[in-house]
Amino acid sequence: MKRYQLRINGEALDPAGGRWFETQNPYSGEAWAEIPECDARDVDRAVQVAHAALTTGPWSQMTATQRGALLHRLGDLIARDARKLAETEVRDNGKLLAEMHAQLNYIPQWFYYYGGLADKVQGAVLPLDKKGYLSYTRNEPVGVVAAITPWNSPLLLASWKIAPALAAGCTVVIKPSEFTSASTLELAELFEEAGFPPGVFNVVTGFGKDVGSPLVEHPLVRKISFTGSDATGRLINEQAARHFKHTAMELGGKSPNVVFEDADMDQAVFGAISGIFAATGQTCIAGSRLLVQDSIHDRFVEKLLSIARTARMGNPMDADTQVGPVTTPPQYRKVLEYLDIARQDGATLLLGGQAASRPECGKGWFVEPTIFGDVTNNMRIAQEEVFGPVLSIIRFKDEEEAVAIANDVRFGLAAAVWTRDIGRAVRMSERLQAGTVWVNCYRAVSFMAPFGGYKDSGLGRENGIDAIREFLQVKTVWINSGAVTGNPFVIR
Ligand code: NAD
Repeated sequence: MKRYQLRINGEALDPAGGRWFETQNPYSGEAWAEIPECDARDVDRAVQVAHAALTTGPWSQMTATQRGALLHRLGDLIARDARKLAETEVRDNGKLLAEMHAQLNYIPQWFYYYGGLADKVQGAVLPLDKKGYLSYTRNEPVGVVAAITPWNSPLLLASWKIAPALAAGCTVVIKPSEFTSASTLELAELFEEAGFPPGVFNVVTGFGKDVGSPLVEHPLVRKISFTGSDATGRLINEQAARHFKHTAMELGGKSPNVVFEDADMDQAVFGAISGIFAATGQTCIAGSRLLVQDSIHDRFVEKLLSIARTARMGNPMDADTQVGPVTTPPQYRKVLEYLDIARQDGATLLLGGQAASRPECGKGWFVEPTIFGDVTNNMRIAQEEVFGPVLSIIRFKDEEEAVAIANDVRFGLAAAVWTRDIGRAVRMSERLQAGTVWVNCYRAVSFMAPFGGYKDSGLGRENGIDAIREFLQVKTVWINSGAVTGNPFVIR
């Protein structure tokens, strides 16, 4: 079994408490590596070196152009090691190798994009209404950034934070999920190879209360960039608010996938399947509420079932597998619990509805792709994030009702509309309360496209040009070109 070390100040270290915990493979159910179990002492060590790198180290002396060049080099190294990193992710989170490999091949783009942006977010000279001054703004790094990430796409979601944070000149201490820490520890090795000065990127691993919480509380951390559940996000945001720390919150969703009668039916069925069953439903943007217009409801559902029924489950490393296991045992239990809740609330089970016991699923934590019909929006299955392969189908009669149902949840991360009517597409994308709206597609994301939530789905935006501003603070400089005059006791 592989034993990992934590990475602080460019060094591989043992945790202060001398303890490790096991990480398991969701497909085999077996432990495959040992991860350092850090505590507040490791957190303090990591934050201290990150602060030193930010204030006095070589990183603080680099130009934005030089930082950008390092980000480019890192992108190249990730591209070189994409396959190896993808395999580590699959071993830890059970997602399909095909998906994780594609993701790892795409991740370098974040480092190229923000590397290019690093020296293009200059301040401005102010035109100014007062004579005798030159006044301008400087964009300065906000400080040491604490990045806290979940288990579903560990390196992709980490890159959404790391690339803009470093481009802005910040330094980073990251705490990956305790279920999927290995790939982030491997990524840290590439920082050293790329030539980043020590202390710029540090990884501490372990549990939320032992590592995440002290990291949020640490007085030298100025920004917390979090992706995870809304329950944890709320706790962190409250903790951060006491110290006026900046936060960015990428939280959960209960996204509506809305199919109108004039949609291309085959395309919409494709979108419904990929909306919920890709990644075994374990994505924040999962289209877990399928809203189907009355007039096509039965035909649409029939077609959907005929395809969903054919899903091939099995080893996520195999190219043929379409649905892999659930990543963690607590998540597996939670998904099964929701299957009971949906039945008790009166939803009609149309497919699946139980743990998968197919021989190809081995000892993994598999749940059958599940579809519930006759769901109403007041049922828990329509309101709460399941984060698994569970779809709820809700009927609607017209556009007005579709909007009302779609927006009647506390989340607002994403939404999709399937229609051939351009006017309807425009109206719907204006009225849906979500940070991303897709028309006749699902799941498109890009390093260029701002991503984030309305309502309880979060605060702030990742990706796109403005995401770098999340890691900057503005300083205004006044230079007096004449003498200071007048009565010094009176402000005019
Ligand atoms: P989680 O909230 O349980 O954990 C996320 C991270 O927070 C982990 O690293 C965890 O150790 C840490 N943590 C836990 N308690 C903490 C505390 N008290 N202080 C500091 N850190 C703490 O979430 P998860 O189960 O790992 O991930 C699934 C959730 O993430 C889902 O709700 C999903 O929707 C959300 N998610 C959101 C996005 C997005 O971009 N909006 C993307 C992916 C996942």
